[in-house]
Amino acid sequence: MDRAATNDLAARAEARHLDAHDPLAFARERFELAPDVIYLDGNSLGALPKTAIDRISNAVRIEWGRGLIGSWNDAGWFDLPRRVGDAIGAMLGAGPNECLACDSTSVNLYKALSAAIKLNADSKRDTIVGHVDEFPTDAYVAQGLVQQLGGRVRLSTIDLDRADAFDARTAVVMLTHVDYKSGALREMRGVTERVHAAGALVVWDLAHSAGAVPIDLHAADADFAVGCGYKYLNGGPGAPAFIWVHPRHHRRFETPISGWFGHAAPFDFSPQYAPAEGVARAGAGTPPILSIIALECGVQSIADLGIETLREKSIALSELFIATARKHCGDSIELASPVDPAHRGSHVAWRAKGAAAGHEYAIVQALIARGVIGDFRSEGGASGLIRFGFAPAYVRFVDAYDAAIQLADVIATESYLRSEFRRRATVT
Ligand SMILES: *Cc1c(COP(=O)(O)O)cnc(C)c1O
Repeated sequence: MDRAATNDLAARAEARHLDAHDPLAFARERFELAPDVIYLDGNSLGALPKTAIDRISNAVRIEWGRGLIGSWNDAGWFDLPRRVGDAIGAMLGAGPNECLACDSTSVNLYKALSAAIKLNADSKRDTIVGHVDEFPTDAYVAQGLVQQLGGRVRLSTIDLDRADAFDARTAVVMLTHVDYKSGALREMRGVTERVHAAGALVVWDLAHSAGAVPIDLHAADADFAVGCGYKYLNGGPGAPAFIWVHPRHHRRFETPISGWFGHAAPFDFSPQYAPAEGVARAGAGTPPILSIIALECGVQSIADLGIETLREKSIALSELFIATARKHCGDSIELASPVDPAHRGSHVAWRAKGAAAGHEYAIVQALIARGVIGDFRSEGGASGLIRFGFAPAYVRFVDAYDAAIQLADVIATESYLRSEFRRRATVT
């Protein structure tokens, strides 16, 4: 055996050794994952918690099937969005009745931006500021909102970490905590302070950080936050999202969708809207109970693992992956994520260079065919970012190692050039 191969065996054995001593290794058993799949897309759709299978089946057969409408009371359905919201809030440094599980991130962002604009806009201060490169739904929602309410949206091209990104017209700033492409992690406290110093309110989008990165919304003194249930919270496809409102805004928090599930007493059937106390008023229509049950299982699948322990493992996985990929891919890839793990969330993005440049979509498809599931984020056509998420509750060190080796092999053998890997699917 040549020297390089011996070296690789030793490196893979080291990854296995890390798994053997991983305090979170036991948690992988909580998820339905085939042994031969390397799942590095938990930042787009978290894996299925095994508990959800029986829990949902039970909710369908017993609670719905037998309990029928009585289950709204007897099975705790009515309180479920608040209960799950509180459990999510507990991971974000929030107190009870500050966080509600409901609707999608897009809809919750609409509610938060609308409430924030009403709290802070006037004839001179009328602008929602976001960043031009951030997740597009956030910009779309803001654009739709100003059509309803007036004002304007400004999508900044300079980094929103900078104080000069805001001006006297800035009413609300919407910021993603972890960038969906590069994985760059914003420092929440300092940025919030600068937004406040500029006289604006801040809405944080925690889609790519909730469940993977420690967050303390109170310590950061944030105003509003929203985030996804189906990413690191493992709530299942289209899982309800969450919205958090700082208690200082609760009394004046006006939701733009003042439906009966945000009413103080929905079953009084009063013709007059009267909002519930706290974040509960962010509720709108009848909640999707089966989906929230799945989300509860997802939240429970990681809630007891400790966010600091999860974060530590996420960094160790990403560092191993980056080091291995760099060693074996050489100049054929370039890191599109921050090098310093303190400034990176739980995913890692690359661009291909040299002969592989522009073939990022096909590279991802070739990897998927080998059981290494990452994803592709377009920067125009088939070129863009190759993204790998490290959901620390179930990704193994040996997965991180093997994924890097497979990435190198796909590039070295140019197997991405096969035509079947170039066919674009609807969802990437
Ligand atoms: C994933 C993601 C969303 C998704 O919003 P949905 O309404 O759940 O589709 C929104 N914002 C960011 C930053 C995201 O990463």
